[in-house]
Amino acid sequence: VTTRTPLLAGNWKMNLDHLQSIAFVQKLAWSLKDANHDFDGAEVAIFPPFTDLRSVQTLISADKLPIHFGAQDVSAHDSGAYTGEISGAFLKALDCQYVIIGHSERRTLHNETDEVVNTKVLAALKHGLVPVICVGETAEDLEKHGPSAVPVAQLKAALASVTGAVDIVVAYEPVWAIGSGQAATPEQAEQVAAQLRVTLRELLGDEVAEATRVLYGGSVKSGNIAGFMREPNVDGALIGGASLDLNEFASIVRFQK
Ligand code: PEP
Repeated sequence: VTTRTPLLAGNWKMNLDHLQSIAFVQKLAWSLKDANHDFDGAEVAIFPPFTDLRSVQTLISADKLPIHFGAQDVSAHDSGAYTGEISGAFLKALDCQYVIIGHSERRTLHNETDEVVNTKVLAALKHGLVPVICVGETAEDLEKHGPSAVPVAQLKAALASVTGAVDIVVAYEPVWAIGSGQAATPEQAEQVAAQLRVTLRELLGDEVAEATRVLYGGSVKSGNIAGFMREPNVDGALIGGASLDLNEFASIVRFQK
């Protein structure tokens, strides 16, 4: 029996400005509280654009809302002449707990290599942020290499020179399932999640492997979340499109096994 607290994480991508973010977080908190959501039993996290973080922080801390938050990316550098970049120190100063690293959109649209992902993971850990490390294969990878090879290789690369009792989250997001409406099956997600946990065990030992949440992401909706959550190695979900629809996201967060 796992003691890992499920994590339901909404990646807003480049959606909702800072005013919209306040309205959304307020309504989400009310809706979940009205439904008597057990916030300790299933953790909720949102990942707004950088420009919303200050507003979200202010609202969550003023109203003591049980909603966690983080950023969608972080610089590999601490400070200096890196125009347009945001450092882990800045995110920490805004009370971010998490940061998404290596999302497939960053890997493909912004040419982030495994090495870049690794330097960002190291930067996040250095600044006390929990990296949500995204890995996943394309449809072509799946055909050529089978289901686990690419995600496992990406995880190994992301964790190069990471040691000790680190607090991390891993998100398995098959590229073919992201935004496509074609989610993996729970069995497919479990198969890769189990392999990712084996990899965590090899690299970081039993304790970290048992404590680390492995999420599934890719076309998660209220109608399919329960199937994923029944799998022993899937500890939650990273949700894109459906995290922007208040009722959908609230239903996902309140999944029933
Ligand atoms: C994502 O981009 O992390 C994601 C899982 O998107 P979607 O839920 O829209 O497939």
